[in-house]
Amino acid sequence: QIRTFKPEPKCLQGKTILVTGAGDGIGRVAALTYAKYGATVLLLGKTLSKLEAVYDEIEAAGGKQPAIMPMNLETASYSDMQQLANLIQTEIGELHGVLHNAGILGALTPLEMYDIVTFEQVMRINTTATFMLTQVIMPLVKEVDNGSFVFTSSSVGTHPRAFWGAYALSKQAVEGMSDIFTQETQNTTSLRFNCINPGGTRTNMRAHAYPGENPMSLKTPEDIMPAYVCLMSDASIGVRGQVIALQPK
Ligand code: NDP
Repeated sequence: QIRTFKPEPKCLQGKTILVTGAGDGIGRVAALTYAKYGATVLLLGKTLSKLEAVYDEIEAAGGKQPAIMPMNLETASYSDMQQLANLIQTEIGELHGVLHNAGILGALTPLEMYDIVTFEQVMRINTTATFMLTQVIMPLVKEVDNGSFVFTSSSVGTHPRAFWGAYALSKQAVEGMSDIFTQETQNTTSLRFNCINPGGTRTNMRAHAYPGENPMSLKTPEDIMPAYVCLMSDASIGVRGQVIALQPK
């Protein structure tokens, strides 16, 4: 029932949720949707103007005032992320959920000839930064009851596929990370870790991956939001260590 969740109008009221990659694609719509259901949203992303546009949309729709946190996950250091966690603690106070959504596709190339610079860039943004941010932010989320971390995987993270290179490997690592965090925390905290695999969704990334595809044949980010809301809401308390595929392959 996670995929078909029907959220109550204010089911995220009182929650503060950090969304990475909040300026575009699925992350943008997740941020708008979380705000619509009553959350205070922290908008993290690379391109400031995109975050500002999302901020304005949330305000115009009457949502709680969001916060903008510009950060390039490729170049941000561990100490930059610690500063961000400190800032959230001092300025915002509480954090109930984190949607790790930011990601890049990299190249669709055989591994044998995969460019190493691109490889490291993909692994850094999709995996290492996701790990570092989780580590620095965990103490904060542990302070609330039933904190929720949601990672973003992909079908090629669940089943590696030829030519998907670093992207597939980075998403396999994300699924593993969610699983290990789950095992290491499930007996000691109410924190929960899960992965969403959104499936083919109408965004710029998908258009780059499948240039010949008709975008109108795909679900929109709005279509897949019920699961994103469910995993941040108290309706998913007790759901841990899952990889939730939102669409058939
Ligand atoms: P988009 O390319 O549309 O959006 C990606 C987001 O990540 C943008 O907001 C982008 O910010 C941000 N981002 C990229 N690089 C960085 C960086 N270095 N630092 C901070 N933020 C960064 O992708 P989607 O919305 O399609 O994808 C969202 C997630 O869903 C990804 O993790 C993707 O792998 C996953 N996914 C998507 C599928 C699909 O069909 N769309 C299918 C399966 C998984 P900016 O615009 O400022 O660069």
